Amino acid sequence: MKRDYYEVLGTARGASEDEIKKAYRRLARKHHPDVNPDDKEAESRFKELSEAYAVLGDKEKRAEYDQFGHAGARGTGFDFSDFDMGGFRDGGFDFGGFAYEDLFGDLLGRSRRPGPVRGENLNYSLKVSFEDAYKGVEVPMTFSHSAVCDRCHGDGSEPGSSRVSCPRCGGTGQEKIAQGPIQFAHACSRCQGTGKIVSNPCSSCGGLGSRDKQERITVKIPAGVDTGSKVRVPGKGNAGSNGGPPGDLFISVEVPPHRYFRREGSDIYLDLPLSYREASLGDKISVPLPDGKTTLLTVPPGTQGGQKLRLKGKGFPRLKGKGRGSLFAVIKIKVPKGPKGKVADLIEELERTMDMDPREGLW
Ligand SMILES: [Zn+2]
Ligand SMILES: [Zn+2]
Repeated sequence: MKRDYYEVLGTARGASEDEIKKAYRRLARKHHPDVNPDDKEAESRFKELSEAYAVLGDKEKRAEYDQFGHAGARGTGFDFSDFDMGGFRDGGFDFGGFAYEDLFGDLLGRSRRPGPVRGENLNYSLKVSFEDAYKGVEVPMTFSHSAVCDRCHGDGSEPGSSRVSCPRCGGTGQEKIAQGPIQFAHACSRCQGTGKIVSNPCSSCGGLGSRDKQERITVKIPAGVDTGSKVRVPGKGNAGSNGGPPGDLFISVEVPPHRYFRREGSDIYLDLPLSYREASLGDKISVPLPDGKTTLLTVPPGTQGGQKLRLKGKGFPRLKGKGRGSLFAVIKIKVPKGPKGKVADLIEELERTMDMDPREGLW
């Protein structure tokens, strides 16, 4: 029983051409016989993959397969059952739209022409105060990265001149080296496989196409960041090569602890000392917030030490998800230190009048 081609490639039936191509590339590399020598299972898996891709990678054949299944695909003459693995190696096989080199070139030590390469990402770290992490902040920062040269726009040639065919490889981008009967090709050392060289280097970048540049930007740090948060600044990494896009700049945030606020996720904890009277009779107490403002907290009568009173929506904004966390006031009861005279007398009298055992029912 033949397996479903989509199942073989591990893609959904509605997968895009690109998804199918990616899935095939990934699996074909994994199961390629050169990577798994003498592994019969990998070999048959590789044949199965190639067959599936020969159909699903082709618009017409795929439509036919979608409609008629394997019967349709076989009808088009695809039968790999007696396919010889040797066929893959002589270079004569058309890999359904890829050159063999393109797929496995780097595995086999062969070269392929370098395409556009995305620039590197850069990482910077930044300290953000607890207050700024609560409110959000815009931070000016200076950093250096390699940027596309303004003078030659990345080409490396002095304006007015252009690249010329590489004399070492004759413009093919490949050098061939014979080892016994086998000929190997690798990327030309002079032109790095591009086939072209700069004949008149740009006076600004010396032919590199990019230059180290100091740049001053303003980074927007969103409210809610915490230690470990990363803020991405697109396109501010290093310049790409061969016309590739630049990388991104990542800012790793560090938020040092606060003197009296403690953070847990998007919630904030604050110790709130109350007097004996405030806790027992209740009151409205002004509580500080990390942004410098204050808010009124209602302390209900009979509030006990250690109790947490919650102020909803006064915590940090949630970076993922909606809304904000809470601010919890952790109640501490303050009693007078070593009271004497009238104060001590009144407390004694209060205790007698109340007739309360604070440990009642505990043990
Ligand atoms: Zn330049
Ligand atoms: Zn060359």
